[in-house]
Amino acid sequence: MENTSSKKNIVQELDPLFKPKSIAIIGASQKDLSIGNVIIKNLLSYGYKGKIYPINPSMPEIRGIKAYPTIFDVPDEIDLAHVIIPSKFVPQIIEDCGKKNIKAVIINSAGFSEMGEEGMALQNEFLAIAKKYGIRIFGPNCQGIINTDPELKAYCDFTFTFPEPGGASIVALSGGVGAFIMQSLFDLEIGMSLYASNGNACDVSIPEIIEYYGEDEATKAIILYTEGLSNPKAFMKVAASVTKKKPILAMKSGRTEEGAKAAASHTGSLAGVDISTELIFEKTGILPFNNEEEMCQAAMAFSTQPIPKGNRVGVITNTGGPAVIATDELVSAGLHLSPLSERAKGKLQQTLLPEATIGNPIDVVATGGGVHFRSALDVLMEEDSIDSIFVNFVTAPFTDTDEVARNIVEVSQLKKKPIICNFMTNLSLERFQVTAKILKDGGVPCYSFPTTAAKALGALYKYSLAKNREIGLPKAYTEIDIKEAKSIIELAKLEGNTYMTSDKVFQLLSVYGLPIADWALVNNIPEAIAAAKKIGYPVVVKAESPELVHKSDKGGVAINIKNAEELQSTIEKMKSGIGIKDMKFLVQKFLIGGKELIAGISKKEGLGHLIMFGLGGIYVEVLKDVIFKIAPVTELEANEMLSSIKASKLLDGVRGQLGINKSKVTDIIQRLSKLISDFPIVEEMDLNPILAIGDDVFCVDARIKIN
Ligand code: ADP
Ligand code: MG
Repeated sequence: MENTSSKKNIVQELDPLFKPKSIAIIGASQKDLSIGNVIIKNLLSYGYKGKIYPINPSMPEIRGIKAYPTIFDVPDEIDLAHVIIPSKFVPQIIEDCGKKNIKAVIINSAGFSEMGEEGMALQNEFLAIAKKYGIRIFGPNCQGIINTDPELKAYCDFTFTFPEPGGASIVALSGGVGAFIMQSLFDLEIGMSLYASNGNACDVSIPEIIEYYGEDEATKAIILYTEGLSNPKAFMKVAASVTKKKPILAMKSGRTEEGAKAAASHTGSLAGVDISTELIFEKTGILPFNNEEEMCQAAMAFSTQPIPKGNRVGVITNTGGPAVIATDELVSAGLHLSPLSERAKGKLQQTLLPEATIGNPIDVVATGGGVHFRSALDVLMEEDSIDSIFVNFVTAPFTDTDEVARNIVEVSQLKKKPIICNFMTNLSLERFQVTAKILKDGGVPCYSFPTTAAKALGALYKYSLAKNREIGLPKAYTEIDIKEAKSIIELAKLEGNTYMTSDKVFQLLSVYGLPIADWALVNNIPEAIAAAKKIGYPVVVKAESPELVHKSDKGGVAINIKNAEELQSTIEKMKSGIGIKDMKFLVQKFLIGGKELIAGISKKEGLGHLIMFGLGGIYVEVLKDVIFKIAPVTELEANEMLSSIKASKLLDGVRGQLGINKSKVTDIIQRLSKLISDFPIVEEMDLNPILAIGDDVFCVDARIKIN
């Protein structure tokens, strides 16, 4: 079970794990190449400030530290134990840990749920014992944790990277990914606060760790790698609140084209297997990355820079081309190079070299030195219309580059606006190593490519959007008669069909206030003729049977029927052509010349339901221009759905074509969302197509799968 305890609880719960005052290593070993030895070595060489108790029945000492035969022989309290013994002995050891009042255990040993049923049983066995004693289990089959706090220096892990303290914290199930991300941060000289790689994660969960990181003052940015979420709802709750305080950067998991195989155009098959993770990231404000290098590069900016208030960037450069490359990337990340005020220009005219370009970008030119960079930086810091600063700095050999670096650092340390630096130099020259060090020590994030630097600034801006995005609450729609809806669904369940029949479907849509074309379900030709007269020609007739899912594929849809004779012959043809007994017929108003849209619902295990919107009819299959969101969907999200399909411009109208009534469509999306919160029993639902005609929209075909 994942625990979403309150703030105070999470800190109390996980402090023994992340801030242990004493650590026992159960399975400590003298062999250099064993985990039970490497962990002690790491604790020692990292300078752990607490007490280390190697546990080994036959060794008097390990790595010069007194060892004890059992934990009961340790004359002191133990906060945290590493367990590195064969899996079958683990339940007994956890029992002992309970008796010794140990609060947290990292089980490095493998041989549990990852090994199949037998291992799973063993895992459940020790977990039950841990629960009995209130021990929190980290792992099993995992690396461990690292806390770089200089007062503690807990390296409870067997890896080989020894990070400096800093603002990035890592959480990953996979030890391999966790370790290489840690190494990448180290290579980029980005300091780290906490690290956790919890393997099978049978108890202490990713959401709990994220919640704990949220409370860790040293953590400025959280880096997450997960291959799947065992409890998406717990995860979403925590992530949504933590991203309001600090950024979470995460790797997007791979997408599969699983949906493509399914011939049906329904919502379920369009939502690929891994779409949920992306949607969860979006809903909770997590920044997704496709590429781990880009993620680490962005982490460098997050761990030192403030978050920009908006998208207006000022660029300072001492060379032309790289500024052009950077500008392209900045603009595609949604940033805007806003013009400078007259006051700013006036100041720059007085202070910069005569060859300088005064505008945005500000080109201080290659001969520009510290004073010129400084003046440009000061001006941008003072400009109300600038939210962030991008510096393109090439180390021109004929300038005092250290002086330039010192000025960038001084302004950066005001922390008023984020500064990102594309630093172009030759680091094999000692002179420029000095310049680089000034920037680095001053906490200026430096990149060696303009695009990389611009992407990092783009990530800061995206986080400012995510942080401030208030999606609001879903609309209540209190006028909807839920009782009536319930009785329709109950009746449909009694009928026992997987798909509800059209009459029930349309009744339910009406109860939910969804706009539908006039319709009647009839048994025979005379009834059809009477219904058509009432609805008014031209009409559409559709064959209706629980066996018919895609009607038009089977010749079960005929449009633009102008009179009774045509209606009669059409129905006769359908009867003989389709050949299903007891077929009924849906007579419907023929609606001419609409744009076909689709909206739908599909169930995702553990997550609830997804709502979909896109271009409908045949376009669904061909273009797959659809967008999903996790239900419930608010008005803001419904609007985002319309504006984020690829063909969104079509909805506004192009080349003389009129646009559609978007608010009626967003209302449909929100009513679907309401329907699914009221009746989660609905597994899948398609409104395909919704015809948008002039200022109106009508659902003309709907399918609802209830079980
Ligand atoms: P199915 O999806 O089962 O094949 P539909 O009811 O969606 O059947 O009909 C197929 C197509 O026929 C729709 O995509 C739409 O182009 C057209 N159509 C259906 N009903 C109407 C209607 N009432 N007015 C105009 N066109 C319609
Ligand atoms: Mg259809």
